[in-house]
Amino acid sequence: METGAYFRLFCDLAHELPQRRNQGLIFWWEDFEAFECSQCGNCCNRPWKIHVGQAELEQWGPAWEKLMQQPLEQLVKIDMPDLPSRYAALAKQADGNSCVFLADDLRCRIHAELGETAKPHICRKYPITGARLDYGHFQSKGLAGSCVSVGKNLKLSKTLNYRWVQLEQRSPLPLLPVVSGKYLDWGAWLCLTGFQLDALLNTEQISHWLLVQGQWHGAMLRGPEVLTEAAFTQALQSFQAQSPLPALEPQALRPMLDWLIEQVLKRNQVLHPLIEWIKSWKDSSDWPTLNPDEKQAVNTYLQAWMQKELLLQSHLIQGHLGLLHQLLAWGLNLLLIQLWALYERSLHASGAQSGELQKTDLSRAQNQIYAYIIQDYSPAGIQRIQFARAESCLVQLGLLGRWEWPAA
Ligand code: SF4
Repeated sequence: METGAYFRLFCDLAHELPQRRNQGLIFWWEDFEAFECSQCGNCCNRPWKIHVGQAELEQWGPAWEKLMQQPLEQLVKIDMPDLPSRYAALAKQADGNSCVFLADDLRCRIHAELGETAKPHICRKYPITGARLDYGHFQSKGLAGSCVSVGKNLKLSKTLNYRWVQLEQRSPLPLLPVVSGKYLDWGAWLCLTGFQLDALLNTEQISHWLLVQGQWHGAMLRGPEVLTEAAFTQALQSFQAQSPLPALEPQALRPMLDWLIEQVLKRNQVLHPLIEWIKSWKDSSDWPTLNPDEKQAVNTYLQAWMQKELLLQSHLIQGHLGLLHQLLAWGLNLLLIQLWALYERSLHASGAQSGELQKTDLSRAQNQIYAYIIQDYSPAGIQRIQFARAESCLVQLGLLGRWEWPAA
């Protein structure tokens, strides 16, 4: 399999590991440093929950109450009493989206009148996000794609920065699960990340990237229990992806869409119009199509989103998912983002706006998927994916990897 500059960079880092026994790596893309909040107020005006920790509620609740001249119970609702970091969520205004503290001029009243430090932690941090392995072997800093400014400016070509950092305590190098019972050593995981980043840059269609990654994960499952960096690079050299495979007929995706409707979309009333829209595709001629410009826009956006996600593998890092299950979770998210973006397009196609897919359809879709699906569904969704059999993950990835929207 052909590899490129990211693979060489990550393999070089892996080779340094023996001399860096007490050090870990931290990564960030150049746009992380360049980010400036556009003060659009969108993140305070979305359906998602703004969680508040129990300790910060105790610290700042009385000041918020005084500021708003309202009892705290009207400003904050207890949401997850057993989880101190997500103990409560800020109340919404009558529109169901705007934060209770958002003023008419889209400024945060807490920020304006009590100062930035009095805002909930998540509001001070957003859209900065990150991932971290125990003891700091791997850390990454990034920007949440759900932020409209970040989403609008997603681009594929950018510099990846990194530095070595001191570990908090000496500890063995991590082993990362492909699935239970199959692992990559730390060097092999670095090489895999480089390989995945190169493949993203070199693909013209995100589904092909998924297909190749699914096939490579299948190959890793047939390998030894622990794949070392040396074995990984050797196996990758002789790995031949079975592409190009013919694109699937639209109807072939129907079972997966039915599964998503039953298991994911039905859970939330707000998503029911999307379900109706999907169900209205009775035969191949009803399926949404993409013209060449739209196809390119979709792929570039999703490749850039995926590039960012690759270094924020939070469910993997937190030990909730192995690499194969994480890949499937991404594949389903990629499909959901496309579905929602095309649904958005269908809404404005009949109005005054252009009937073509807009970049904002994609960032809005990503944004809504986070609010309505990932945030609410994540714990249950992770459990469902976590226990899926490896063979079934590979079959699903094979389907997602051969998916192409019909040409307009
Ligand atoms: S507390 Fe302020 S910054 Fe946080 S969501 Fe509400 S209005 Fe926005």
